[in-house]
Amino acid sequence: MKRSVSDSLIVFIVFIVFYFFAALSGLNEHWVSWASTYSSIGLDELPVALAILCLALAWYAWRRLRDANASHQQLSETVEQLRLEAEERKLAVEQAQILSDTKHEMLEYEYLRSKKLQHVRLMSDALAAATSLDDLQAISVKYLKNLMPDHTVAVLFANKTFENWALAGAWGEHKDKVYPNVTLEQCQVLQQGKAYIDSSNTQQMLCGNANLTTIKSVACYPIACQAQYFGVVHIRSERLTGSLLSKEDEQRIIAVCNTIGLHFNNLQLRTELSMASNRDELTGLLNRRGLGNTLKREITTSEQQGYEVTVAMIDIDHFKNYNDSFGHQEGDKALKFVAETLAKNMRARDVVARYGGEEFILVLPNTSKIIAYKKLKMLIATVANDSELSPDCKRAITLSAGIATCPQDKSSEEALIKSADLALYAAKKRGRNCVMAYKVASSKVSATKPSAAANIIPTKQVK
Ligand code: GH3
Ligand code: MG
Ligand code: MG
Repeated sequence: MKRSVSDSLIVFIVFIVFYFFAALSGLNEHWVSWASTYSSIGLDELPVALAILCLALAWYAWRRLRDANASHQQLSETVEQLRLEAEERKLAVEQAQILSDTKHEMLEYEYLRSKKLQHVRLMSDALAAATSLDDLQAISVKYLKNLMPDHTVAVLFANKTFENWALAGAWGEHKDKVYPNVTLEQCQVLQQGKAYIDSSNTQQMLCGNANLTTIKSVACYPIACQAQYFGVVHIRSERLTGSLLSKEDEQRIIAVCNTIGLHFNNLQLRTELSMASNRDELTGLLNRRGLGNTLKREITTSEQQGYEVTVAMIDIDHFKNYNDSFGHQEGDKALKFVAETLAKNMRARDVVARYGGEEFILVLPNTSKIIAYKKLKMLIATVANDSELSPDCKRAITLSAGIATCPQDKSSEEALIKSADLALYAAKKRGRNCVMAYKVASSKVSATKPSAAANIIPTKQVK
């Protein structure tokens, strides 16, 4: 509305200016003559009016065009600005997305890391509680699998004779192809004394007898402690060359292998200590302490299974005299000879122990008194005969023995040993080189004669 008023005003001013210009330049005369031409038809002012109208319209059109151009430009600028703003906003959204993705990845990474740390902690606790090599191996395999579920892994431990690696567990692709037996001599880890990593796809990697022709990358980490190797963690890929573990995962696996090695070493030390504290140094037989545990276990088992256990106490006759005659060292040799002879004549389940001095104890599970009696007679005769032939023994060695059976005589280990000791005392009294059996029915000195009902009689003296 405002615009149309200003446009009219402009048209009016143009008209006035044009009029004066025409008047000043003498155009009016021309107009008069020109207009008179038309006066006959009564349209004297029409051309002038048309001209003015055209001019006004042209002016108006030019103004509108200029305004339209201006507003178009303004619109373009606004659109451009909006586009820029939209782009900025899009960029901001993208950045926010990247940030959120990164945060998500970091959270996931932290979650996995804490999960792995938890596995390591749980593994340490489980390893510390393990009491046997089998337990240690099973726990190690379980937790290594938790730590590397997506890799192809084989966990190998040294066999009993420390000659071969024996497979304890394997998982991942082609796990069945993991070689079962690699001699320790061939193992690169042992040869180099450290982790063996080969991602060169050279086919020359690893041990000779391993079927590994298709492997592209391999990493073997030792399970060791103080230069003693207990096992190896073998990771392989038949698809990838390059590192199989990230630096952080590798550090973790090395730490885990060291922890496992430490627990193997601890168990080995514990076993050696317990062996040493349960074994007699001179003869290698169980000592009194070792016997206590074993006898208790055998009595419990016999009660559960409902069979008899016979205990024999054996003593070397006149051993003081032997020492006095041939010296203490020869006496030691004689003790070892008796220990070996007793041990090699036992069944796998029987137990031989050195009870102290020149006294031995046999534990014969699932053996009645009569069978034990016959067995002891045979042993006494064997020791006497063999010692006569043996270059280690300076004189034939004779033994005396007393036997007692659980449950018919006594049921506790102390009472059983005491009963066997009483029977032994009776054998000594009877003249040595014989077996006597404990008999419940008789009074305190009942062990002097074996039960007639059980058909037990004292052995004939060898000498
Ligand atoms: P008996 O027939 O009554 O059993 O007579 P004994 O001489 O065998 O019994 P005694 O208890 O008088 O002597 C046991 C001897 O065993 C005394 C000791 O010197 C000897 N002895 C004990 N332990 C060892 C050892 O480890 N080595 C040696 N060489 N002798 C030992
Ligand atoms: Mg004695
Ligand atoms: Mg003796």
